Amino acid sequence: MADVQKTLVLLKPDALQRDLLGEIIRRFELKGLKIVGLKFVRLSEEMLTEHYSHLADKPFFASLKSFMMQTPVVGLVLEGIDSVEAVRKIVGVTNPRAADAGTIRADFAMNVPSNLIHASDTAENAAIELKRFFKEEEVFSYEKITDRFQFGEGI
Ligand code: UDP
Ligand code: MG
Repeated sequence: MADVQKTLVLLKPDALQRDLLGEIIRRFELKGLKIVGLKFVRLSEEMLTEHYSHLADKPFFASLKSFMMQTPVVGLVLEGIDSVEAVRKIVGVTNPRAADAGTIRADFAMNVPSNLIHASDTAENAAIELKRFFKEEEVFSYEKITDRFQFGEGI
């Protein structure tokens, strides 16, 4: 059964520095993902330690956190059927050199640390990350005409 999900995206400091915010947001919009949250966030060391806790034992952990604090990041909440997987597909795999052509990371990045985007990897993590970065009143609900027909899939 189709599952309407919200997923969390962060546009990292390299996206801001390289003037790629609009281009990246445009790709999500053109895909048909609904933007239901959008704001600048200045990440703290505490937020990042929690957010990247799965990487705490890696040698690049400190450098990753430091990089993420260089500028504010842009937080996005994107909604749609199976949006967690749909967004990860558009973003591409972690290493931009291995990412499929046409994905954002493949098209605009060369190096793993500066791969432009964070996107939640599972529905469970998306729910946790959404709460980490957005207050309830910062996530909006509105109808698009395509919403009314999104369950009409027989394949
Ligand atoms: N990262 C890094 N070096 C590595 C692996 C990861 O700098 O060898 C950074 C990279 O920015 C990546 C982030 O850590 O996006 C989080 O890693 P994860 O494995 O969760 O990848 P993602 O979910 O972002 O594809
Ligand atoms: Mg990850």
